[in-house]
Amino acid sequence: MQRVRGSDKSYACPGCRQVIVPGLAHLVAWQVDGLLGPTAALEDRRHWHLACWEARARRR
Ligand SMILES: [Zn+2]
Repeated sequence: MQRVRGSDKSYACPGCRQVIVPGLAHLVAWQVDGLLGPTAALEDRRHWHLACWEARARRR
């Protein structure tokens, strides 16, 4: 999991299914031990709003 300062692209947040607008700081998460290996895991990255990620962590 990595914190990023924002990019020039927009992403769909899997937490709230809304768009992370370009330039907004957010989190990038991926599975380190994915079945298909680290390369596939990198291609399967998910971009989360900070608030959505924290809400998800609290729910566990
Ligand atoms: Zn979100």
